[in-house]
Amino acid sequence: MAIIVVIGAGVSGLTTALELVKKGHTVTVVAKHMPGDYDIEYTSPWAGANVMPMAVEADSRWERNTWPVLKKLAEEVPAAGIHFQKTRVLRRKKDAVADDAVGPLYDDSLFSPNPWYATLFDDYRKLADDELPDDIIAGCEFTSVCMNTAVYLPWLVGQCVTLGAVFRRTVLKHISEAAVMSHTGSKADIVINASGLLACRLGGVMDSAVYPIRGQIVVVRNEAPIMLTTSSTDDGEEELLYTMTRAVGGGTILGGTYAKGNWDANPDPNIAIRIMKRAVEAQPELTGGKGIEALSVIRHGVGLRPGRTGGVRIEKEVIDGTPVVHNYGHAGWGYQGSYGCAEGVVELVDQIITENGIDGLKI
Ligand code: FAD
Repeated sequence: MAIIVVIGAGVSGLTTALELVKKGHTVTVVAKHMPGDYDIEYTSPWAGANVMPMAVEADSRWERNTWPVLKKLAEEVPAAGIHFQKTRVLRRKKDAVADDAVGPLYDDSLFSPNPWYATLFDDYRKLADDELPDDIIAGCEFTSVCMNTAVYLPWLVGQCVTLGAVFRRTVLKHISEAAVMSHTGSKADIVINASGLLACRLGGVMDSAVYPIRGQIVVVRNEAPIMLTTSSTDDGEEELLYTMTRAVGGGTILGGTYAKGNWDANPDPNIAIRIMKRAVEAQPELTGGKGIEALSVIRHGVGLRPGRTGGVRIEKEVIDGTPVVHNYGHAGWGYQGSYGCAEGVVELVDQIITENGIDGLKI
């Protein structure tokens, strides 16, 4: 068993810490931001968060292996704050000729006519023509989950500490500082880097491929009958339409935007109005047909998805003599890929231990 320090208490760091501590490793989680904080540098609290598969089939391992765990939590662990919701994914007529395999706004296959995830969900079905709104050419329906991040992230912390993990607040200037942060007082055998968007600023990593994908949302008290998303909107390439009602009273997320390279932390009121209009138009049930004035707003928010050119980074390297396993760059799928990615990290940790012994100094 190894002494491990995990950098990051977002969904990636916490899920990885949980899977490592379950294996019997001695785990310390160090982070600038923790569950309970709302900060533009800390993405996880801002997420919806639901499961709407985005990967292309070749890269679907992370999401494919996460779904059964989230499904089981929704079925068996109500305290985790995850529930099932019927989901509709609609492809607009105007996007029909744009690309038959990949959605125009995401780098994903969510809107593919024959998606790999058709076999992932028990009740996946294509919608019949008479079920489609006028501007929609095709769509599908399945039962997915929505997580209340304000409940789920603290639940993950609770699971970790119950199994012996220790949490420490700190701001690291350089990744090698993490190696001496273990609560045991001994040097860490392995450091896990789950620093999200800040991987572009963390000394020793400074990954220039990492960039923000700005997501503006409106959280309301009104309930959405189902989770819904469309392949595009009439409001420009960076604007999206999606709705999801969070478990255990978490409100409904109305989304959103997907603006690559945009660091702006402030909600834009004009965008907020457009988000609300699109949502109420698509789901009049939100306000009983009364328009956006009948939305009861909890908060306007902005989160920055950790995008990465080339995709997620799950790999090992040695920095200043300490083996490091990276787990960052999850863009808009950090929750729905969380357990699959943590499993990938555990495999790399096992490799380091097997190849080098737990002092791990020879790779
Ligand atoms: P973060 O949550 O940002 O955590 C990074 C951690 O690293 C923090 O604790 C931070 O303090 C720490 N850290 C970084 N640098 C340092 C340092 N130098 N020193 C100490 N600590 C450091 N995903 C889904 O799966 N489903 C969805 O429906 C969904 N919807 C989304 C909607 C919006 C509006 C947004 C913005 C995102 C959405 N996402 C969704 C994406 C998801 O939120 C992210 O992929 C995920 O939260 C990334 O988590 P992370 O743990 O990698 O990063």
